[in-house]
Amino acid sequence: MGILDDLYQGAIVEHSRRPRNFGPLPDASVEVEGENPSCGDELTLYLLVDDGTISRASFVGDGCAISRASASLMTEAITGLDLAAARDLAARFTEMIRGAPPAESLGESRVLSGVARLPARGKCATLAWQTLEVALAEAAATRAGS
Ligand code: ZN
Repeated sequence: MGILDDLYQGAIVEHSRRPRNFGPLPDASVEVEGENPSCGDELTLYLLVDDGTISRASFVGDGCAISRASASLMTEAITGLDLAAARDLAARFTEMIRGAPPAESLGESRVLSGVARLPARGKCATLAWQTLEVALAEAAATRAGS
């Protein structure tokens, strides 16, 4: 675990060992799979969208500590947001991993800001958020068509 020493190790380890919102969501509005072949991380993201707001988010999958912690933190961060706000948060997270100062709105997900110093692990951290962007696009399309 040496690589994580100064990366808010405690919070990351805690979320990777006991991920929040882990498990399928049977009545999900959208279900999207994502993978990061460079590390072997994979996840399936479920969103329950009610009237344009994410009322529940969950995931299943397997991967390294960073990818699992990021997915766990993300499901907590986006619950209760509308689609536009979640899309904005995904953009902020990606910017943070590329080295921008962490946005306040990211909440506890800011513990992953140190990944910006580990370019090889960037995709581990952004996998969940990139999968979210696909899921948000699907949710918006479904909504437009209904
Ligand atoms: Zn990984």
